[in-house]
Amino acid sequence: MTIASLQTPTLGGEHDFINWIKSRSSPSKRMLLGPGDDAAIVEWGIHQADCVITTDMLLEGSCFRLAEAGPIRVGRKSMAVNLSDIAAMAAKPIAAVVSIGLPRQGGRHLAERLFRGMEEVASLFGVPIVGGDTNSWKGPLVISVTILGEVTERGPVRRDGARPGDWLLTTGALGGSILGKHLDFLPRIPEALEIHRLAPIHAMMDISDGLARDLHQICRASRCGAVLHGPSVPLTFEAQKLALETGKSALDHALSDGEDFELLIAMPEKSAQTLMAIQPLEGVLLHKIGHIIEEGVWLDPGNGEDFEPLGPLGFDHTLE
Ligand SMILES: [Mg+2]
Repeated sequence: MTIASLQTPTLGGEHDFINWIKSRSSPSKRMLLGPGDDAAIVEWGIHQADCVITTDMLLEGSCFRLAEAGPIRVGRKSMAVNLSDIAAMAAKPIAAVVSIGLPRQGGRHLAERLFRGMEEVASLFGVPIVGGDTNSWKGPLVISVTILGEVTERGPVRRDGARPGDWLLTTGALGGSILGKHLDFLPRIPEALEIHRLAPIHAMMDISDGLARDLHQICRASRCGAVLHGPSVPLTFEAQKLALETGKSALDHALSDGEDFELLIAMPEKSAQTLMAIQPLEGVLLHKIGHIIEEGVWLDPGNGEDFEPLGPLGFDHTLE
């Protein structure tokens, strides 16, 4: 297949809805970055500082199973997924607000345990929970967390700045998060800030919907393509374990499972080479997993075999 004959695949439900919102919203001088990235940025206060804002809603039965995970782990996850989006912008989290839709029976006890989990993760990063809202109903548990953050003197990192020749790096092994990591991960905030301090990052996001799908998001936003080098994608033990049960390969799991919450980074080759050589992150290894090209998203299977087109495998937040 030639590159020219490639169709750009649609990213589906939630992505289409964001585009619909974008087509309707009128430009605002204070909206520096609107919907579609890991977080939005608005100009704030008389000093016109960048305020980074992100929100994420977790639904019982879809994002977690309360009976299996327990409320403290669910509380941790609801805070950590939002902090991960702040990390993806290379920003510092400043404050969180929380809204919860609780079941009427046992709601108070549940809320206290959720809060303990949230507070545990928030306090690790010095983030106060400054307010929110609770409500109760007959439906399942719903948790929405919003975080406000600030950028460093190097500014925010968006997902639309990748350029051909950039290397693609990630901060850890991928796949099989359903076996536990999706609840127990730590957002890569110190890692994102340290990489941003040391090197120019052209584009970054956190891997939430699956490596292949999130790579498509960066390519689409940056109007470029990418080659992912299959044998270089770091695989978790869990991806390998799941592969034995599902019949898919561990790499397939790494490409499509999602909720890894590692960082996917595009940066100039020279800077990436330096970072790879010095490995500046404490306890976290940077891996080179591919590079940015002009057009098309491809998987290089290694061993000199032909590249294969790589679709946006992963989790689509379907809207009908
Ligand atoms: Mg994200």
